[in-house]
Amino acid sequence: MTRFVIVGGGPAGLAVAIEARLAGAEAVVIERCGGPVDKACGEGLMPAGVARLARIGVVPPTWGSHPFVGIRYLDATGGRLVTSEARFPSGPGLGIRRTALSEALRARALELGVDIREKTEALSFRETAGRDGGPPGPGVEVQTSAGPIAGDWLIGADGLHSQVRKWAGIAAKTGPARRLGIRRHFTVAPWTDHVEVWWSDRAEAYVTPVGPERVGVAFLWTPGASRQKGDYETFLGLFPDLAAKLGPPETSIRGAGPFDVRVETQVKGNVLLTGDAAGYVDALTGEGVALALEEAQVLVALCLAGRAAEWPARWTALTRRHRWFTRGLLAMAARPWLRRQVVRALAWAPWAMGLAVRVGVGSAGAGRRVAGTGRKEISES
Ligand SMILES: Cc1cc2nc3c(=O)[nH]c(=O)nc-3n(C[C@H](O)[C@H](O)[C@H](O)COP(=O)(O)OP(=O)(O)OC[C@H]3O[C@@H](n4cnc5c(N)ncnc54)[C@H](O)[C@@H]3O)c2cc1C
Repeated sequence: MTRFVIVGGGPAGLAVAIEARLAGAEAVVIERCGGPVDKACGEGLMPAGVARLARIGVVPPTWGSHPFVGIRYLDATGGRLVTSEARFPSGPGLGIRRTALSEALRARALELGVDIREKTEALSFRETAGRDGGPPGPGVEVQTSAGPIAGDWLIGADGLHSQVRKWAGIAAKTGPARRLGIRRHFTVAPWTDHVEVWWSDRAEAYVTPVGPERVGVAFLWTPGASRQKGDYETFLGLFPDLAAKLGPPETSIRGAGPFDVRVETQVKGNVLLTGDAAGYVDALTGEGVALALEEAQVLVALCLAGRAAEWPARWTALTRRHRWFTRGLLAMAARPWLRRQVVRALAWAPWAMGLAVRVGVGSAGAGRRVAGTGRKEISES
């Protein structure tokens, strides 16, 4: 039976493991943390991601989740608060604490027989001539802090700063903006059934209801030439109308970045990259998890069909709309005057905001028609 060895037990790695078991393959997940894994995240799962969780049998716990029906933009920088909003055309999204998402994905993976090795760090890998009991052809062996693990496919789902990517010799570069993000949760009943994006000239606040009495607030910003670290309280001070709504802080502050990692290819031999490890633009559109869930199904199907070389072209097609839309929003965010005009125009013409949200969440299968080869390219098409 084909065995996937997956480095990283985040959403991308666990989704690959679940898809592998659903397709009749073996899956081993190597995760250096223990228990439900937490991470800096805005925690908004877009409607396509909600549908994918349901499809693979993952049930989000109610203690750590809260539905939202659309996106709201708020901009108070011109002296008055301008608001525009639109509902998703295709059902709600879900605000979900990372620990709740991790718990639900782990539970489903274990139910399907995935071998999850927690508190285990992957250290390196080597290619092998093949594996006893595996399909014909080359295999992989991953060296971990708890000994070697042999498999047929090595999946790098180890996040933005992927080690698997480095070990495989796949080049990656960070884009010029080097944006960062930090998040914290507050104990307060959600006042909104939308994800709110609050704009300012220095940072964006991304507000997500993630439980019956919990709201998460993430700040995203460009540190500038000084590369200064962000101070959460300073950022909160940029949004007094938002700060006034919040209850006491419930979690410590967590950060991540820099975003915008451009990756040369998503496959090399029997090593495939997925999730943030495969390339990432920015957290502003809140689509990282939904994309990772979608990638998992395609990646597993390609490996089992002996067509792994097609993965870069399929990945490029799957993520194209997201990358373009996110880059467009970032260009707008970087020009305060333009941003104010756009948010005002969207408030004045709600149909345009509806269109923007439809383009933003897109159709889940945007790339399915594209077949391709494993040609080398910086994935920026
Ligand atoms: C501030 C912020 C806000 C965001 N907001 C949203 C949002 O609202 N919605 C959304 O969908 N996305 C959002 N994202 C993006 C989202 O968090 C990522 O796209 C998502 O976590 C990618 O999942 P992943 O599994 O690829 O990587 P990760 O979640 O980073 O998981 C990688 C895992 O690999 C493990 N690992 C790494 N190296 C090793 C090793 N050598 N051995 C063993 N284990 C290893 C790590 O411990 C980790 O658990 C946001 C991100 C940030 C930073």
